[in-house]
Amino acid sequence: MPDRAKVLEMRHITKRFPGVVANDDVGLDLEEGEVHALLGENGAGKSTLMNILYGLYHPDEGEILIRGKPVRLGSPNAAIEAGVGMVHQHFMLIPVMTVTENIVLAQEPTTAGILLDTREAERRVQELSDRYGLAVDPRARVEEISVGQQQRVEILKALYREADILVLDEPTAVLTPQEAGELFEVLRGLTERGKSIIFISHKLNEVLEVADRITVLRRGKLIETLPAAGATEESLARLMVGREVLLRVAKTPAHPAEPLLEVRALRVIDDRGIEKVRGVSFEVRAGEIVGIAGIDGNGQTELIDAMTGLQHVESGSVHVGGQDVTTESAHGHLEAGLGHIPEDRQRRGLVLEYSIAENIALHDFRSPPASRFGWLFPRRLVERARGLIREFDVRGGGPTTRAGGLSGGNQQKVVLAREIDRNPKVLIAAQPTRGLDVGAIEFVHRRLIEERDEGRGILLVSLELDEVLSLSDRVLVMFEGEIAGEFPPTASEEELGIAMTGGRRSGVAA
Ligand code: ADP
Ligand code: MG
Repeated sequence: MPDRAKVLEMRHITKRFPGVVANDDVGLDLEEGEVHALLGENGAGKSTLMNILYGLYHPDEGEILIRGKPVRLGSPNAAIEAGVGMVHQHFMLIPVMTVTENIVLAQEPTTAGILLDTREAERRVQELSDRYGLAVDPRARVEEISVGQQQRVEILKALYREADILVLDEPTAVLTPQEAGELFEVLRGLTERGKSIIFISHKLNEVLEVADRITVLRRGKLIETLPAAGATEESLARLMVGREVLLRVAKTPAHPAEPLLEVRALRVIDDRGIEKVRGVSFEVRAGEIVGIAGIDGNGQTELIDAMTGLQHVESGSVHVGGQDVTTESAHGHLEAGLGHIPEDRQRRGLVLEYSIAENIALHDFRSPPASRFGWLFPRRLVERARGLIREFDVRGGGPTTRAGGLSGGNQQKVVLAREIDRNPKVLIAAQPTRGLDVGAIEFVHRRLIEERDEGRGILLVSLELDEVLSLSDRVLVMFEGEIAGEFPPTASEEELGIAMTGGRRSGVAA
């Protein structure tokens, strides 16, 4: 490879927060025209390093050079001035304004506020969007365009301010597989025109697809910078986690038996009168994992809430183990044999102020062995918690530790332990690995398969397509409140992606 100019060098960067060294003597360099991926688990220090580059944090030690010259990036304005643009995970756009207004006003909020030459601004935005292949309509209002297009507006905002170093923080988290593919095209186009890109991700396949080089961080430390060519998902996972990781759960074919969860023509209407679940029917049998894929907001949450007694069912029915629970309370669902790993573990899964032991006893502290004849037996709660902490490999505390003090992955293990220990017939797992690191994901996946093999019926609802495909025995796609198709786990992400966007109705709803 010919020597390319270094547009950015971060040297010996150290940043301490109380109790943690977020960046510990980290170095990173960026060559002109490359995509450099920053890879690491949650908490590895990726965002901290980028926030330093964007002038949001000041490093305790280290220096930054842009095109060979030392710079002081004391504020985002200074970073923009130095040519650094940042596309945050959460877009900073004003929905009621047009694409052009959002792009231009970010630049000159005061001078352009009143006297914006709209025509001229639109022309410049159009010109930029043509040059870099970022198709968006400059006159469209942001609230009318797709999430993928909003992301392009954020990229255009940075380009409009003449950024030549672009940082994208987990940009594909909000995209469909098709949109992610389009984004990669855009990134390639940008690098061909001399832009240099830092791409943050925890998804190994994406990093391999889009990056020229990869820098791996682990617990604040630089582990390695390596070329993407020659790297594999396995080798990257090992660098990221520090040990061998099973990326694909080993899984034997399912032997589904009797139906344990039966959902018939279910309809749910939300408080604003909108029909969110529009006649959904399916079943989950003993010994199988049924996955529900879909883009966020297509009725998955309302479906789960209705199936677990947290939301009123307009019509249709839900049976658990043959018992009609349609109008039962949440507690009635639990009694009937339903376990629920909720998507919002901090709000619905756990009481953060309670101890691990109390959280484990949450559903059944009124029944034996924890309590008998109105007497509580705290020691039994603690003993039981201790056993489950061991079995579920919960790290970072004992039975009396506050749940809120655990990391996300360990909190999730507590929820899993509680729900599985109740020996449910059906386990509904909603986004069970959201926000978890690779090690914890491996644990949760392995455990779900084991529970399937024990004969439970598992319903997995997830926004992560690769998770749905690798765990499920059958995949249902939800689109606009309906089941848009059923697929075998051998279906491609593209096929599912088409159904997820309503592009084609294929397969037969179960
Ligand atoms: P990543 O982006 O790789 O997930 P972060 O850079 O966000 O990681 O976090 C690295 C570490 O620094 C974590 O332990 C996190 O809790 C800590 N951290 C990040 N920002 C702050 C902050 N503003 N105050 C205290 N601790 C922080
Ligand atoms: Mg981050």
